[in-house]
Amino acid sequence: MILRNIYKFVILLFISVYFILSDQNCGKKERSTLYWNQRYETLPREELEQLQLERLKMTIERSFYSVPHYRSVMQEAGMGPEDINCLEDLQKLPFTTKEDLRNNYPYGMFAVPLSEIVRIHSSSGTTGKPTVVGYTRNDINNWAELMARALVSGGAKKNDIIHNAYGYGLFTGGLGIHYGAERLGASVIPISGGNTKRQIMIMCDYGSTVLTCTPSYALYISEMVEEMGLDPKKDLKLRCGVLGAEPWSENMRLEIEKRLDISAVDIYGISEVIGPGVAVECSCKKGLHVMEDHFIVEVIDPDTGEIIPEGEEGELVFTSLTKEGLPILRYRTRDIASVDYEPCPCGRTHIRMSRVSGRTDDMLVIRGVNVFPSQIESVLLEVGYTEPHYLLVVDREDNLDILTVWVELSSKSFASDEVRKLEELGAKIRGEIEAALGLSVKVKLVEPKTIERSEGKAKRVIDNRKL
Ligand SMILES: [Zn+2]
Repeated sequence: MILRNIYKFVILLFISVYFILSDQNCGKKERSTLYWNQRYETLPREELEQLQLERLKMTIERSFYSVPHYRSVMQEAGMGPEDINCLEDLQKLPFTTKEDLRNNYPYGMFAVPLSEIVRIHSSSGTTGKPTVVGYTRNDINNWAELMARALVSGGAKKNDIIHNAYGYGLFTGGLGIHYGAERLGASVIPISGGNTKRQIMIMCDYGSTVLTCTPSYALYISEMVEEMGLDPKKDLKLRCGVLGAEPWSENMRLEIEKRLDISAVDIYGISEVIGPGVAVECSCKKGLHVMEDHFIVEVIDPDTGEIIPEGEEGELVFTSLTKEGLPILRYRTRDIASVDYEPCPCGRTHIRMSRVSGRTDDMLVIRGVNVFPSQIESVLLEVGYTEPHYLLVVDREDNLDILTVWVELSSKSFASDEVRKLEELGAKIRGEIEAALGLSVKVKLVEPKTIERSEGKAKRVIDNRKL
């Protein structure tokens, strides 16, 4: 009898240990913490596609009747809202580009009067007019919902203290995460970027459990933690990180997870589509689930515009399904990734996109800041004493992106080979570039005719970050 009770006890103990351990594993977590909105995140494929079609029809109708740009491009293509009868019909629509948004700057793409817009964000506008995005109250509501989903997908819970080190302001990162964290019911610390030592002090004192920022900043924080002689395991309570807004590698993830003793997931977003919360990884960390009840994703060949088969890389194109302020139809993101339709062990039915591996244009993302070679070119032309031959070398030193601008001196300036003058010139160029980019850079002055010339497209960038 006693022996039977002991057996029972041992078996129960095994079962309990199994459930406790399986809680840590992908797809085995207790449902209440695995999903934020279980119904929509696990909607059977057929129902999901039906919902997408209904919402797509509504979005196209709204766009056609409320946005002159969309009406004219649809009319040019010889189509109207009545031609959308299945999801494949979306492919009849012309693409929307950043240029279209710029041409309709600032409010031309809005589908509602400004009186219904409650929030405006925009891109930095470093290469011309910024792209402006507007949100109605419902849009903000949906965005908060998606961000709450994303945070839960990354492991956050209601009783977490979320340390939000994304920038607050026109950039969508800070406020996007902020509203999602509040929707979740977590305690959000709106710390924004910068002043890393103070950030760490606050993390220690306030007991932050979730970190949200760019991956490179997370690594920088980890270095500073070490420098301050702190032990993440003892002095910090961080448990997970929801990191994004710049490309990062799997090795970088492992490094961050090890150094900060957290589990880190990748989050994807683009302001023209909504901001952060377009797609996010689950605990399986095998691709980012696209929030398909709010967006349709397509992958196209950037040169031909043809749809690319599953699993192959191409340019991501998004269509919004619920946005009122700025409905976006087949928006070309210039981000390169692939999609995977295989069901995910986590139970979510939404398809997964791969990490973004690059961009179709020549834009560089350095420490979260968009840099275009043309910006540097125009600075160099203004300063003078240099040739418009330059090279941007990007390295990752001590886990931070370093941009070094190689500048070729003109033969004239090099003739006056006084070291002091050259130093002054280097400092002046650096100052002008930093002012233009809002980013610290290194400048290396090189002798005339040392930068390789090209007969075709000039090679302006050497990116040694190897993602
Ligand atoms: Zn999953």
